[in-house]
Amino acid sequence: MKGNWLLQKGTSQFIILNLLIAIAYTIGVNFSYEFATVPGKVASVWFPSGMTLALVFWLGDRALLGIIIGSILSVSKGLLGSDPPLSIFGFIFINAACAIANCIQPLVAIYLIKKFSDHQNIFSSVNSVVVYIAAVIFSPALSATIGVTSMWMTERIIWNSYELSWVTWWLASALPQLIFTPTLLLWKDFCQTYRQQNFWEIGLALNVFLLISWVSFIQGYPVAYLFLPVLIWTVFRFGSFIASLLVSLVSLIAIFSTSQGYGLFVKGSPNESLLLLQSFTAVFSLTSLILSAVIDELKVAQFSLKQSMENLEAQVIERTIELQQSEAQINGFFSAAPIGMGIVDHHLRYIRVNQVLAEINEKSINEHLGKTLQEILPDLSPYIEGFFYQVLTTGKPLLNKENSSSAYSKNKIEQTWLASFFPIFDLNNLPFRVGFVVIEISDRKRAEADLKYAESVLRKANIELEKLVNIDELTQIANRRCFNDRLDLEWERLCREQQPLALLLFDIDYFKRYNDCYGHQLGDDCLTAIAQTVKLVLCRPADLIARYGGEEFAVILPNTDLDGAVTVAEQISAAIKNLNITHQNSDISDIVTISLGVASLLPSFSQEPSILIKQADVALYKAKQKGRNQVVVFYE
Ligand code: GH3
Ligand code: MG
Ligand code: MG
Repeated sequence: MKGNWLLQKGTSQFIILNLLIAIAYTIGVNFSYEFATVPGKVASVWFPSGMTLALVFWLGDRALLGIIIGSILSVSKGLLGSDPPLSIFGFIFINAACAIANCIQPLVAIYLIKKFSDHQNIFSSVNSVVVYIAAVIFSPALSATIGVTSMWMTERIIWNSYELSWVTWWLASALPQLIFTPTLLLWKDFCQTYRQQNFWEIGLALNVFLLISWVSFIQGYPVAYLFLPVLIWTVFRFGSFIASLLVSLVSLIAIFSTSQGYGLFVKGSPNESLLLLQSFTAVFSLTSLILSAVIDELKVAQFSLKQSMENLEAQVIERTIELQQSEAQINGFFSAAPIGMGIVDHHLRYIRVNQVLAEINEKSINEHLGKTLQEILPDLSPYIEGFFYQVLTTGKPLLNKENSSSAYSKNKIEQTWLASFFPIFDLNNLPFRVGFVVIEISDRKRAEADLKYAESVLRKANIELEKLVNIDELTQIANRRCFNDRLDLEWERLCREQQPLALLLFDIDYFKRYNDCYGHQLGDDCLTAIAQTVKLVLCRPADLIARYGGEEFAVILPNTDLDGAVTVAEQISAAIKNLNITHQNSDISDIVTISLGVASLLPSFSQEPSILIKQADVALYKAKQKGRNQVVVFYE
């Protein structure tokens, strides 16, 4: 609560915060001098630089005032007793330069870290750790340059010791940033995430570290390499914060012992000791940081792998359920369909068959599976295999193929099936199976055949009926009714065409006597012979001979003028004479003769066709009057 209050934005918070920072800074400076390799003079590790980096990282600009105050207090204390005495200007100048250097160092480092790394998780990725290391090595170079130059300019140091002073400043500032700052920065994460730890194991690791530290840094045995396996164990087991904490602890022990003249880093000259100490702590810290990052990356990768595996597993389960559902749907569809359905592979082996098809084929579903078409339907397969192969080669469906067989049925009655075949494509979109549906249509076919038969009977009956209506039963030529229809038709047509229409009416001479003499039967025969003879004389398709009544006949001659009609009349008369039918009771000849009346006119809509009949009838009457056996033309 107190910490939270301090971090709130407000003037009193700001003042207290910066005062605390200034105090901490001053303590850090004193601490650094306490642990100086050359006690009181050259600090091998400048603790405040590790602290300022963490403060600026958390608080930003708000921490700068405290850093400046701390810097001024510390630097002033060091300058007050310096020899030769310093001018006011020199005093202010060095103070200002050191304050700037101490602010610039964390600001630049944090700028670089935030720009080039994932600053939320600096120590969890190798890339960010490398950026962090580079930033904390580079930023002290700036502060060292500013600080040491100000000291040289105010003659606190001579030029010859510039380089050594610079390196000392630089290393002393860089090291705590490498060793202690990560512990401070990771502290927050640790508090949030690592609550459940195996404290016994941590305690053991701590003790092992302390033991090796005691042997190395107090007793002076060269066993510092033993830290490495313990460090690896720590990183693996407890993560980066505990590792960083233990590295800080070991580094503190190393610094303390070396500063007190103990341990394996104490060599002939202080500089040599300093170098050994700094390189040990640097290597120790770098190893810890990079190893932690590698492990963290590994953990993240493992976690995401585990998650994708779980996702994959969930997807597989989901897909399996979907597949099972669709399989169940297809199964349901197959078994419920009221038509035969099946699937065969490219060898025409049954892959799937429904109950209806099994019943059509008179075998169980299981008997079908794996068998070829040839094995299941030996009689039918030669006729239908071609359809399957056609679908497999073309990839196009074949619809409504009929097949009939009497051999292939229970009661040897011809049965007919209607089948459609369609391709099933593989993943490369090539047809590799054929699905088919079969419907038995025997009943429909039989009904169709019955219907056809009924139609033909009806057609014949119609023809007969037509004959009865239009054909004269005795002579088998057109009857009076047909004559009337045709005359009306031709009249109308020739009205439009303005072509002549001719009509012949003829009557057998003394036919009553013929009947009386030869009997009615021969009379009938005579009528038939005359009708058929006249039919043969007529050569145009439109000409029509009709029995007009009793032994009277009419001949319609469309598109025929009077001359043409007379010619046809003469031909008819001659043809009948040619029949040479004996008629001993005729007054005018000893064979059957006829009298003909001829009329022809240009039909018009204003007149009725009956006018033509009247004219021909008048002419026929005249022919009879004039003595029979002749052609008479109607003249108005
Ligand atoms: P005309 O020379 O004046 O024509 O003398 P006709 O005897 O032919 O005269 P009429 O018209 O009076 O006689 C027609 C006869 O034709 C009457 C009938 O016996 C005969 N007849 C009419 N229809 C039929 C038929 O269908 N069959 C037979 N055999 N005779 C028929
Ligand atoms: Mg007559
Ligand atoms: Mg007659």
